[in-house]
Amino acid sequence: MIKFLDLSKQYFSIKKEVDHAVSSVLNEASFIGGPHLKSFEENFARYVGAQNCVGVGNGTDALEIAIEALDLPKNSEILVPANSFIASSEAVTRTGHKVVFVDACPNSYVISLEDVKKKITSKTSAIIAVHLYGHPCDMDGLVDIARGADLKIIEDCAQAHGAKFKGKTVGSLGDIATFSFYPGKNLGAYGDGGAITSNDKALAESCRMIANHGRIAKYEHQFEGRNSRLDALQASILNVKLNHIENWTAKRVEIADYYIANLSNHPEICLPIRQPWADHVYHLFVIRVSDREALKKFLYDNGVETGVHYPTALPKLKAYELHRQRNEKMLCSIHDSTLLSLPIGDHLSERDVDYVCKQIQKFYH
Ligand SMILES: *Cc1c(COP(=O)(O)O)cnc(C)c1O
Repeated sequence: MIKFLDLSKQYFSIKKEVDHAVSSVLNEASFIGGPHLKSFEENFARYVGAQNCVGVGNGTDALEIAIEALDLPKNSEILVPANSFIASSEAVTRTGHKVVFVDACPNSYVISLEDVKKKITSKTSAIIAVHLYGHPCDMDGLVDIARGADLKIIEDCAQAHGAKFKGKTVGSLGDIATFSFYPGKNLGAYGDGGAITSNDKALAESCRMIANHGRIAKYEHQFEGRNSRLDALQASILNVKLNHIENWTAKRVEIADYYIANLSNHPEICLPIRQPWADHVYHLFVIRVSDREALKKFLYDNGVETGVHYPTALPKLKAYELHRQRNEKMLCSIHDSTLLSLPIGDHLSERDVDYVCKQIQKFYH
């Protein structure tokens, strides 16, 4: 079986380094905070090219804390792409704001600037720029719009570690950015983890306090915060994996290029677009096909696991049943029945990828 994701294979390729890092945390018994966390925060900030990094419990908390730290007007409207994982919109509601869904670009799948412009009202306070599937949003365009309308930009980089817009790494291109280190992400921990990056020191400090009970010292609490921390075990593992991510990303890009070269002469398949200004990190390689279920089943029966990201556009979910945008016609609400994610990642060999292509070609023959 060609797996969609194979975390144990990756672990065995770096086992010695990971085991060493984990046992040093166990030996030091410094589980919360400490040198491993500090060093990961510094290393990750450098990797992203941001001035500050704060480790937090997961990518969803990262979004909630970032939005809270921005101190936006209560009940303001925040623009969220309709094509994303629910965490992107959940964080908006959880922090007391209103979700306004925005359509996606047809083949790069990131937020549509045209629709952003249409959705801005006097109550809009921020835009969540999700670099979906690993493709960066058009940050110049978004920053222009945000400046003109006095909006904040929160980059949701959960799927885009190391992706670049015009040569600049995502995570420092808006006001604040959030990352997830969920195990299946391009940079994944062995449990939950997340981070917030920003060039604004005061904003980053505010996030650190919110995530740590509003405190500046052990029992000195300036306000009520919460508990959401990246623990030392995860930080030590992430420090090891950060040294490999460039290689892993290069492999993803190679696989994507192979898919594009070998599937482009099938008119039935709509391949993902990579904008000329994008360094795509291919967290997912998503194609669109009208006979999605049949192709998915054919591939599975022939030993290839695939995924669907996401089967239901956010506005159509039960969670948004009472949301006034439920019935709005959006391209991504029509496309969701045709999306199919092909396997991609460092666990695949050239032969595996070639086999996937051959099976798809066979299906369409
Ligand atoms: C995974 C993901 C998140 C949430 O991250 P968790 O660490 O699972 O909480 C947020 N946004 C997007 C786009 C994601 O893919």
